[in-house]
Amino acid sequence: MVTITVSCRYCGNPDQVRRKGLATNGHQRYKCEACKRSFQLAYTHRAHEPGIKEEVIEMALNGSGIRDTARVLKINMNTVMSTLKKKPRQSSL
Ligand SMILES: [Zn+2]
Repeated sequence: MVTITVSCRYCGNPDQVRRKGLATNGHQRYKCEACKRSFQLAYTHRAHEPGIKEEVIEMALNGSGIRDTARVLKINMNTVMSTLKKKPRQSSL
């Protein structure tokens, strides 16, 4: 049996992460008991992986077009558009 230590994606806590069932596509979901947030280690779509949203915004700020961003990050153009149209979270301002 192989034990995999999973650290929380949001707070980095490795001690309070519990398995929390399967997503509909079969990927294992985890829940952090410290910050009460849930996450997965693997996603079906690359656009859901952590850090992709920030890369889309950074590329837009550096003058990359939508098609350019979609090709480089290997995500759909519509995903790039919807990410750019979303309002920033109040906590990040
Ligand atoms: Zn956490």
